[in-house]
Amino acid sequence: MSAPGRDAAGRSGGRETDCEDVVDRLYAFLDHELSTADDIDVGRIQRHLDECAPCLRERDVEVVVREVVRRACASDSAPDTLRVRILTQITQVRS
Ligand SMILES: [Zn+2]
Repeated sequence: MSAPGRDAAGRSGGRETDCEDVVDRLYAFLDHELSTADDIDVGRIQRHLDECAPCLRERDVEVVVREVVRRACASDSAPDTLRVRILTQITQVRS
C-alpha cells in the first residue's frame, strides 16, 4: 500500500460540522447509536464524510478495524486490548 501523503486537515472553517465532532461520534455513528435527539445526527455526519477526506479516512480505518476484529474473534465480543492494538498499528502505518 502506498502512502498517499498528508493533505491539509481542511479545518479552515465554514463547515457546519466540526471534524472533531465527527470523529468523536464515529463509533456511535457506525453502531447506529445516534438518535435524532442528538445534536449531530447521522445525516450531518454522513454529509460531512462525503466532503471531508480526512474524516472519511478515519471512518474507513474504523471499518477496517471492526472487520479485522470480527474475523479474528468470530464474535462481537472482541477484547478491547486487541482492538486498541490493531488501531495503534494502523495509526502507525498511516503516520
Ligand atoms: Zn472532517
